Amino acid sequence: MKKIIYADNAATTAMSEKAIKSMLPYLKEIYGNPSSLHTVGQVAKEALDAAREKIAECLNADKREIYFTSGGSEADNQALRSLALNGERKGRKHIISTAFEHHAVLHVLKKLEKEGFEVTYLDVHENGLITGEQVQKAIRPDTAFVTVMYANNEVGTIQPIREIGEVCKKLNVPFHTDAVQAVGHIPVDVKADNIDMLSLSAHKFHGPKGVGALYCRRGIPLNTFIEGGAQENGRRAGTENIGGIVSMSVALKEACAGMQANAQKLVKLRDRLIDGLLKIPHSKLNGDRYERLPSNVNISFEGVEGESLILDLSQRGICVSSGSACTTASLEPSHVLLALGLPHEVAHGSLRLTLSEYNTEEEIDYILQEVPKVVEKWRSCSPFWEDLQTGKRKHFI
Ligand SMILES: *Cc1c(COP(=O)(O)O)cnc(C)c1O
Repeated sequence: MKKIIYADNAATTAMSEKAIKSMLPYLKEIYGNPSSLHTVGQVAKEALDAAREKIAECLNADKREIYFTSGGSEADNQALRSLALNGERKGRKHIISTAFEHHAVLHVLKKLEKEGFEVTYLDVHENGLITGEQVQKAIRPDTAFVTVMYANNEVGTIQPIREIGEVCKKLNVPFHTDAVQAVGHIPVDVKADNIDMLSLSAHKFHGPKGVGALYCRRGIPLNTFIEGGAQENGRRAGTENIGGIVSMSVALKEACAGMQANAQKLVKLRDRLIDGLLKIPHSKLNGDRYERLPSNVNISFEGVEGESLILDLSQRGICVSSGSACTTASLEPSHVLLALGLPHEVAHGSLRLTLSEYNTEEEIDYILQEVPKVVEKWRSCSPFWEDLQTGKRKHFI
């Protein structure tokens, strides 16, 4: 097989060697059920406790505030359902969020709307950011909770979470953040950031798929999401995914230890990529240039379809995406890019390249060599591009 350049790390990451090694004993000799009283079970239970402690440490939380889940989506679902129920019990049925959340949040909000909740979707500025002031202005006496993602999975913008948390704390409104793209990549401190609930997922920081966690600050009641056994302090039934959980804790510790060095390396690669790709005529960077994840590049090219670019680049050994992995299959333009005010046809011609510390300078060189060729090739056979050339349509970029 030809060498593959993987630049789709917002969709998922390769597991680190350490994370892989750490889970193997739990697939082999340490196979016990942590709920069992005998030694085989108790060894597993000790590993579970240690992993919980490690993850709590990375977030500046207490281990009793960490609940394991099957991933980011489940953590988001549990957080929102629980906060909605708590709100409803107090007669509060108003929710504040943004239009560019991940679908694991947005789709739950849509359901809650059908169930009688009212949701205010804050307008995202065209640079992909909202402000604490916007949140403050939207809060009402009947606001049940606020949910705003830490960093966006498509355009990589980092929200002023600490400021939003402060506003919520001051006005006594619980605050959840989907931090799946942030944890392990940029500093996250649940206390300093005034976060009440936070979702994370292992496979976004070189851990395994199918495992994540929900942080829930002590004092915020967390309702049971999956009924059954008494695991996770009765909040989430099911025999624990010990291998996955241990591996997640190892991956997170590794990511946090290497965070500064990785970010430095990534910012360099990212900025070379951005500067190089913006040399292509009629291209535009989506999301704020500075308040963005070190790994994220998202660029629109006028007059092309993102899907054509992705498939062609894939033929050349380069793996990238357009919107998020979930929307790519649907051919709908990304709700995130539309929320940033891009017209449909421009949103359609976007590429998302998300790097990891495993990428190299040489890979960036190759991407910078291939993308301009591919854009030109597909523009040359696009009727839309022709209309732009002949002046039948006006350039947006
Ligand atoms: C990937 C992702 C999720 C979903 O996490 P899973 O573990 O795949 O369920 C949720 N939110 C954001 C921002 C993500 O990037």
